[in-house]
Amino acid sequence: LFVYNLDMAFITINKQNFYHNLNQIALKTGSIEKIAIVLKDNAYGHGLELMGTLASECGIKHAVVRKTTEAVLIKPLFETVLILGDKIIKDEKYSFAINSLEDIKYAQKGAKVELKVDTGMHRNGIALDALDEALALIQKNELELVGVMTHFRSADELGSELFWQQKQFESVKKRVKEAGFIGVRVHSHNSAAILRTKHFDEDLVRVGIGAYGYNELPDSFDQLELRPVMALYAKKVSSRVVKVGERIGYGGEYIVENEMSVSTYDLGYGDGWCRGDAQNPYITCEGLPILGRVSMDFISLASQKEEVCVMNDAQAAAKQLGTISYEITTALSSDIPREVI
Ligand SMILES: *Cc1c(COP(=O)(O)O)cnc(C)c1O
Repeated sequence: LFVYNLDMAFITINKQNFYHNLNQIALKTGSIEKIAIVLKDNAYGHGLELMGTLASECGIKHAVVRKTTEAVLIKPLFETVLILGDKIIKDEKYSFAINSLEDIKYAQKGAKVELKVDTGMHRNGIALDALDEALALIQKNELELVGVMTHFRSADELGSELFWQQKQFESVKKRVKEAGFIGVRVHSHNSAAILRTKHFDEDLVRVGIGAYGYNELPDSFDQLELRPVMALYAKKVSSRVVKVGERIGYGGEYIVENEMSVSTYDLGYGDGWCRGDAQNPYITCEGLPILGRVSMDFISLASQKEEVCVMNDAQAAAKQLGTISYEITTALSSDIPREVI
């Protein structure tokens, strides 16, 4: 297969799968140029600059990050970079989400801003009844309004809540237009919302998890076929034969039932791999249960292979570990080498 020089766990990034996912999403938006790739949190653990470069090579023109420190690293790759939560400064390429009225007060004059409207998630954004005040303040403080956005609280669940929030957002769009703002891009869809939308008519989608290959929608929606981009490998550190009755790892939670060869691999919770529960062990994508507790830097497996694939589908792994794909990939340390295949 693929040989990495450093003696360390590593992550492969499957470029073809990434492009496949972006193309699937472009079928919904009508164009690749309407996709803003969400690269926050180290591109959901896939690698910020790496994924930024691949996205840009695929024709993606817009990116979304959380902080300006992330935006700096990918700035040359995109036409616009939306920063979701940081000090608002004037910049040619950056636009900043307005999360509260205070954000408008403290923004640097001339800065590009995108007004986030709270249509029901009640996490961030301007309340509907403060919209006029916010728009007036944006004008008074000489900010450049380049976008209006909202975020859905349950796009990935059955039920009518999404439609109720969408309806609220329609009225917001109308009010912004009536207030005389022009050239303002509107966007509300995350991955789940665009995957279930039949008629897309906004300017942009903000796609994170879907681009990385996961669809967290219930099976009852028609599904686009997405392909996981990331696979996680660990390398063998040492091997030994263990006898019946011997115990492996901290707490000796795994008790050997038949003499066997066991190897230690260089991945642990210090690398961001979930510690899980030794009594209900994670089973790798090659079918090997982790034997005993996950250590900070090591796991034990009944294998002799030099390298093992621990995970090649974060959604499947998340099901085993009682979480969601986002948490599995995002937690992986940025120190693990990432390599494009
Ligand atoms: C993270 C985020 C997204 C992307 O969500 P996915 O479910 O990963 O597609 C979109 N919009 C905002 C405001 C976000 O914070």
